[in-house]
Formats: sequence, C-alpha cells, structure tokens
Amino acid sequence: MSEGNLEKNSKSALVIGGGIAGIQAALDLADMGIHVDMVEKKPNIGGRMAQLDKTFPTNDCSICILAPKLSECYRHPNITLYSYSEVQKVEGENGNFSVDILKRARYVKEDECINCGVCTEKCPMRVIDEFDRQLRKRRAIYMYYLQGVPAIMTIDKDNCLWFTKNACRICEKVCEREAIDFEQQDQQIKLTNVGSIIVATGYNLIEDIDNEVLRNYGYQKYRNVVTALEFERLLSASGPQEGHVKRLSDGEKPKKIAYLQCIGSRNDRSRQYCSSICCMYTTKEAMIAYEHNNELESYVFYIDIRAGGKGFQSFIQRGENDYNIKYIKSKIAQITIDNKENPIIVYEDLDNGEIKELKVDLAVLATCIIPPEGIEKMSEVLGIELNEYSFIKTPPFDSTETSKEGIFTCGCVHEPMDIPRSVSEASGAAAKAAEVIRGG
Ligand SMILES: Cc1cc2nc3c(=O)[nH]c(=O)nc-3n(C[C@H](O)[C@H](O)[C@H](O)COP(=O)(O)OP(=O)(O)OC[C@H]3O[C@@H](n4cnc5c(N)ncnc54)[C@H](O)[C@@H]3O)c2cc1C
Repeated sequence: MSEGNLEKNSKSALVIGGGIAGIQAALDLADMGIHVDMVEKKPNIGGRMAQLDKTFPTNDCSICILAPKLSECYRHPNITLYSYSEVQKVEGENGNFSVDILKRARYVKEDECINCGVCTEKCPMRVIDEFDRQLRKRRAIYMYYLQGVPAIMTIDKDNCLWFTKNACRICEKVCEREAIDFEQQDQQIKLTNVGSIIVATGYNLIEDIDNEVLRNYGYQKYRNVVTALEFERLLSASGPQEGHVKRLSDGEKPKKIAYLQCIGSRNDRSRQYCSSICCMYTTKEAMIAYEHNNELESYVFYIDIRAGGKGFQSFIQRGENDYNIKYIKSKIAQITIDNKENPIIVYEDLDNGEIKELKVDLAVLATCIIPPEGIEKMSEVLGIELNEYSFIKTPPFDSTETSKEGIFTCGCVHEPMDIPRSVSEASGAAAKAAEVIRGG
C-alpha cells in the first residue's frame, strides 16, 4: 500500500519512544498503510543517535543518516506524533487496547513557533543542558537539540523566571509571532482501537542516575575526565567545541587520550552484563579523534575486546594498525591528576601483572548502559515483565516479544545493542504488530 493510503476501519499501532528503533518501527508500519501514534517523552524525537558524531561500523555522520528519517516520520501522513508526552494508562488486550496519553504543555504554540531562536537568545537563564551535559548550558526556553524535530521551542517550567519568580516574560515580548503562551495547559488524549503496541524507549547511561560510580574515576572531580557520550559531543561539528577537540581545563588540544572500558558494568554486582557496544564505539571515537589530529596517541584500557559483529574485529584491527590506537588489557586501580590537571591512569597490566601508570591529556569513560528512566512504571502501565536488570524481559529465541500478547519491543530497552541491530529489530517488531492488526 502506498504511503498515505490508510486502511479503512483498521486498527492503529502505538509506538512508545522516538529513538532510531521507534522511528524505524513507525515508518515500516506507516508505509504498510497502518496508522501509527508515536509517543516521545522528550521535546524532540531522535533519541541518543542525535547525540552521536559518527556511527560505527561505517563511521558515517550520525545526524546525516538520522535527519531524513526524522522528517519522514514527522511528515508521514500515517503517523501522528505526540512529543513531550507520556503514556499514562493502557487497558484492553491484544488487538484492542485503549491508551491514555499526557501531552505536556510547552508554553509555546506549536502552530506558530518557527524556531527562529530570538527567544532563546534573549532568555536570561542558563541551566545545565541535558543534551550536552557538563559541556554547555542552555536557556530556559530552548530546542532540545539544533536539528530537533518537531522544530518547536519548549519552556522548561522548572527554570523559567515567570514560573519560579513571577518575573521576566522577555520571550513573550520578543516573539513576533506571539507564539508564547504561559496559560497553556497539559492535555489528556485518549486513543482507542489500538491493535498493537511497540515499546522502544531505549536506554540511559549510568551517569544519568548515579555519578558516584564515575566519581571513583575522577568524573566531575577532574576537568579532563569526560564520558564517552560527552566525547561524542566534543567530536561533533554541532557540539560545544564545534568539532575541535579541546581539554576542558585549558582549551589545549589533547595529544594523548586514554579510553577506559566497562565503567560501572561487569565488575559491579548489580550490573554484571556487558554494555556490548563500547569496544566498538571507543575504537570509532579514537579513529575520529585521530582524523582530527594524526599525531594523536590513543590508549584503550580493556578487560577483553567484545567485537562480535560482521566486520567488527577487523574494525578493531584497523584501529590498531592505521589509527595509532594501543589496546592495553588491564584493570584500572585509580585515576589521579598532576599539577597541570593531566589525568594519570594507574592500572594493573593483565599481560604481566605489573602495576603501571600512564599520564594522558584527556580520559574518556565508556559508561554502562542501563534501562531508561521510568521503566518500572512503564512495565506496570503495560503489564509487561522486566528481567533482573530491569530491561524488558524477552523470550530466549524472539527478541521482539514481551510477556504480554500484542505488545512488542525493539532496541536498547530490552538489552544494549547498536544501531544496525536496533533498526532490524524495529522492522521485526513492526511486522509482528502488523500481523496482529491485520489479523494474521
Ligand atoms: C557513547 C555512545 C556511542 C555510540 N556509538 C554508536 C555507533 O557509533 N554505532 C552504533 O551502531 N551505535 C552506537 N551507540 C548505540 C546507540 O546509541 C543505540 O544503539 C541506539 O541509540 C538505540 O536506539 P533506541 O531507539 O533503542 O534508543 P534511544 O536512542 O535511547 O531512543 C529511545 C527514545 O525513547 C524515548 N523515551 C524514553 N522513555 C520514554 C517514555 N517513558 N515514553 C516515551 N518516550 C520515551 C527517549 O527520549 C528516546 O527518544 C552508541 C552509544 C553510546 C552511549
């Protein structure tokens, strides 16, 4: 069925989560002529992929691959997007669910805002930016990220001077389109006749909930220790350093970078699983950093290399041979700094048991992937089971099924995985959902 032609009287599908997995599932279903309602918690769709600079295994530009999918999803006549929204209640069963959605007020009129940016420029507030973390501050009226879809501003009520101190309203004064609406209310939306649901709410990283584990490695104690996701933002042309990697302490270009693997996972009793993508993305980050400066030395401190995908092992070898990356099988004891704030990695070399030190200019932590915030509530609302680490439980031989009929899953919400696998699973989940909706 061609795009835009909706099956008459048919049931719709609900996709929860607008990362790459949710987007792919929605597009597949919509192209089959099935109406999709997509619910995304953040102001914009795109998920974590929007934060990445390049993506392994091809090292293509992440936003260049993602952006066409974002606009296709937003403009597709068979997809209704509820951004800045959450699913509150689900009733019914396989083939016939009803769903209550809370659409949060942005305090900006969606059909008036043209994302000109004047309000953001004039907003006096500076707050921590969730997208770029400790690297940049954003304003209280903001776009979640530059290329975000839908391209509409959002007022963060918790930091806006009008909501906190009854003052300011500068954004309202400078908006020529009169798009600011401080009276806007949250909306309740009810969907009925939902045939099937796909949960694609992705992942969080350990630093999102617990900086204590990272502080043991000097994070937020030493300025030249950053997380891998922050390093993606440093590498990115649209990031806070416009793609010129510099140290946070003095703005100098690093000449030696250490990458520390398995931070918060595998050693830790509560998170014994492997985050599965870090060996690959670390090599990718070291390769891209080398492309910025080909005198760079990179050191990867690892427990063992897990590169189990097509061409993945040769990717690691390419890193070693062509990008000046040294892989050190080791156990990290601690990180300290010298008087120039250079991180010093103290480690046990597992090849010979010796305790050694390496002084570098910058250290990058590959932090543990954890289930997304609010997963317990989501599992209650949907009536689906979680596994021992609170990822969605799936049966051993079908990674798209959940414990409840008619509810499917894809992407990192059930286990850490890379983008290619998230996309293939999304197509699998979409096919299963379509089967329910069309009655086999
Ligand atoms: C540092 C780093 C580098 C990486 N590099 C690569 C790489 O080079 N190549 C590669 O293949 N993979 C890479 N990855 C992995 C990649 O990020 C994931 O494979 C991919 O983002 C998974 O997509 P997803 O849609 O499952 O999850 P996400 O990208 O997390 O998207 C989930 C979406 O669901 C939304 N959501 C969450 N909770 C709710 C809720 N309750 N209701 C509604 N919406 C909700 C979120 O806001 C988000 O938009 C990297 C990961 C990291 C951490």
